[in-house]
Amino acid sequence: MNGYRFCFREEAGVQKPAYSPASAVILKLVERINVVGAGLIGLGSAWRLAQKGAEVTVFDARDAGCEASWTAAGMLAPGGEFFEPSELATLGMRSLAMYPDFVRELEEDSGVTIDYSRSGAIEVAYSDAEAAALETRAAAQKLCGIPSEACKHDSRPARFFPEDAHVDPRDLTRALRVACQRRGVNLLENEPITKISADGRVWTANGVNAGSVTLVAAGAWSSALLTDLPGPRPEVIPVRGHLISWPLRAGLLGPILRHGSTYMVQRRSGVLLAGTTREYVGFDRTLDETALAEIQARAEELLPLLAGQAPTERWNGFRPFVEGELPWISQLGRSCVWAAYGHYRNGILLAPETIQRVAGYLLA
Ligand SMILES: Cc1cc2nc3c(=O)[nH]c(=O)nc-3n(C[C@H](O)[C@H](O)[C@H](O)COP(=O)(O)OP(=O)(O)OC[C@H]3O[C@@H](n4cnc5c(N)ncnc54)[C@H](O)[C@@H]3O)c2cc1C
Repeated sequence: MNGYRFCFREEAGVQKPAYSPASAVILKLVERINVVGAGLIGLGSAWRLAQKGAEVTVFDARDAGCEASWTAAGMLAPGGEFFEPSELATLGMRSLAMYPDFVRELEEDSGVTIDYSRSGAIEVAYSDAEAAALETRAAAQKLCGIPSEACKHDSRPARFFPEDAHVDPRDLTRALRVACQRRGVNLLENEPITKISADGRVWTANGVNAGSVTLVAAGAWSSALLTDLPGPRPEVIPVRGHLISWPLRAGLLGPILRHGSTYMVQRRSGVLLAGTTREYVGFDRTLDETALAEIQARAEELLPLLAGQAPTERWNGFRPFVEGELPWISQLGRSCVWAAYGHYRNGILLAPETIQRVAGYLLA
């Protein structure tokens, strides 16, 4: 291993000062890391940790990358997300700047081509009041380092955000899967973790897996896995979102197109996606016909050539929301368990920054 980090192994439920000679604390070197969750955050972290020499096992309850990281539109779009300076905006901008190198390195390590485009984004105003609000917002966004310029879209007032970009998140998880396997990561799919103990052990229906450290990166499912662990942590709430898509002529849409909560992004293949909704319905996977019809109507208003064309794909997924919308990347008390979850609407954008931070913490 290139780097080692000390963590403390404590007897579960026993309150002892960490540095007291009387405490039953055992110092242990990090050499085997369990990662719970093979979404973009878990797989990305596993890849980085394995690159740095750690021995990593990743567990997923289903197939790798099939939850929020499969659902997402993949917009890397501070211009549509951050309206004033904040810690989240700073993280988002930092992660956006890391994307070109992140994609290049991952393509090299995996041999998988990733659909990534620094396309920019156009945000349209439908009224004078909306245009004025967009101008005011743009002035505040300038303070976060988010540039934009006034433009027109179909004779409507609009703003162009040149630095917004997009990526196909399914390409990212496909590439990470290969890169992880090439780096010797042990990926165990359809192997749900049922329990995690403070000493880093994880349980599945097939038994116990020891680990000197466990990283929980189970997106909207993370809270339920942390119940037996010490220390404060934010509760994660699933926020469902629907998306629809049409196979269209490639190159039809250049920049991302947005109006309010409606957005459109086109993949290199021609597939054009539109979203979205924000629904508080727990983990209900039922497709909501009303929500889908509403997205379609909004999409047709923004891009009239879609009128009358039924989408060929419709799906939904669960954003991991935490209060304050700032992802939680931290150790659970003084246990051997860390967590990285709560990326809510921006987990694809925040992935490079998150996985770099996780590797720094676990292998410091
Ligand atoms: C509709 C929608 C649109 C979005 N659009 C964007 C966008 O344009 N840009 C952007 O940046 N972000 C977007 N997001 C947000 C982004 O998708 C998420 O923030 C990100 O994917 C979270 O990644 P994750 O790895 O934490 O979670 P996930 O991808 O959900 O991965 C969590 C993994 O944990 C596994 N798991 C759960 N329980 C267990 C268990 N007990 N044992 C083992 N494994 C378990 C799951 O099976 C899953 O594979 C969108 C999200 C949605 C829903």
